[in-house]
Amino acid sequence: MKQLIKGLRRFKSEYFCTHQDLYAELSHGQHPRVLFITCSDSRISPELMTQAEPGDIFVIRNAGNLIPPYGATNGGEGATIEYALEALDVKQIVICGHSHCGAMKGLLKHEELRESMPLVYDWLKHAEATRRLIKENYSDRTGEELLNITIAENVLTQIENLRTYPAVHAKLFRGELKIYAWIFDIDTGEVKAYDPEQHAYLPPHAVLPPEEQDPEFATEFPGCSLPNVPTPTTSRTNGFIKELDSRPSIAASTPVPAYASAWQADSRGNTDRPDGRDTHGQDDGKGSYSLHSSQRHPMSRLSSAQLDRIYRGSGSQ
Ligand SMILES: [Zn+2]
Repeated sequence: MKQLIKGLRRFKSEYFCTHQDLYAELSHGQHPRVLFITCSDSRISPELMTQAEPGDIFVIRNAGNLIPPYGATNGGEGATIEYALEALDVKQIVICGHSHCGAMKGLLKHEELRESMPLVYDWLKHAEATRRLIKENYSDRTGEELLNITIAENVLTQIENLRTYPAVHAKLFRGELKIYAWIFDIDTGEVKAYDPEQHAYLPPHAVLPPEEQDPEFATEFPGCSLPNVPTPTTSRTNGFIKELDSRPSIAASTPVPAYASAWQADSRGNTDRPDGRDTHGQDDGKGSYSLHSSQRHPMSRLSSAQLDRIYRGSGSQ
């Protein structure tokens, strides 16, 4: 606790004192522009990773960034979503999963939790659709790779759950809401966003509409220049990358799941495949990217009409 108290003192003397105008304004009300849903994991800090200021984002956090379907429970998630959309008029929602997620590890051994952690066991039932999808479609994957697939698919499953809320459904229908699926990679400090058209996780700006593009996005994601900080390619302890790198036997015709191209893609959507094939993204000159068909997800769980409805929206703020 000593560290927390020291932090409180430092916050008051430094940040608060230099942002008194902001806090004075916020004392009259909040107008966050984004509902940010992410995991309780201590390694995830939504405000820090997005450099958001107080008042910018309205946050829901729980184990596994789960959203129980509407009516499934009377928990705080539904009330918070409703408040964000109806009272605060939030027009953008981000669901952000992350690498090394303990909740998703738990989901992969769900039955083992029944006795040791019955509350976690019950909570993870809200990700049952993810578990079933993984079990029936990725039975050939193991270890870190399986975990990363689960993390990526779970974010999409939770978006489907989100759509069951009347407030969300109605706003999507009117094109007044956008929902984004993100994954934060603890090893690299980077976020990838799901592109429903390509069914792949890409650099976050790649899924934004043209009106939200910024010249800054044309440059690569900044790396770390501090001495003794290994580059992502050497520092990654993420077993998935290593595992994929050591899988040159992947048949040339084997589709590479969405998350694979995502987590290896650089800031312009270019990727390097372990089999050496050139699958670099094609810049169409309009700020969007198209990937080789082999990089697309092997499954298409949502119809194009559904996807269009989920991600369509009027201009965001
Ligand atoms: Zn987590």
